Amino acid sequence: MAHVVCSPCVGTHDTACMKVCPVNCFYDVPLTEVGVDEPADAAGNEELKKMLIISPDECIDCGLCVPECPVSAIFPLDEVPEEEQKYIEINSGWFAGKETEALDAHRITP
Ligand code: SF4
Ligand code: SF4
Repeated sequence: MAHVVCSPCVGTHDTACMKVCPVNCFYDVPLTEVGVDEPADAAGNEELKKMLIISPDECIDCGLCVPECPVSAIFPLDEVPEEEQKYIEINSGWFAGKETEALDAHRITP
């Protein structure tokens, strides 16, 4: 299983979650690469044009990141709300077929 970052991260992106991840499995990706619309206030703010996603292959489901998120954007896979289900694919799809070098360019660590 894995944890999943959902829509509240879009437009927040404060990176608190990745600071506690014991396996550094958060990746900082442009919204355009995961098919999510940029928030209206993203103009001129590069940070708001990205979101963090979790590698489903690396996450160990420790749950430490969940309470760190100020907007409650992170859920265990089997607790992702119905209206957020598309974020399961958004988190996992970006990783498919990417070489290690391409992945590591987006890995975000404290
Ligand atoms: S559940 Fe644990 S391993 Fe998975 S992303 Fe959160 S902190 Fe990292
Ligand atoms: S998941 Fe939450 S804590 Fe992590 S970057 Fe997004 S808004 Fe911030």
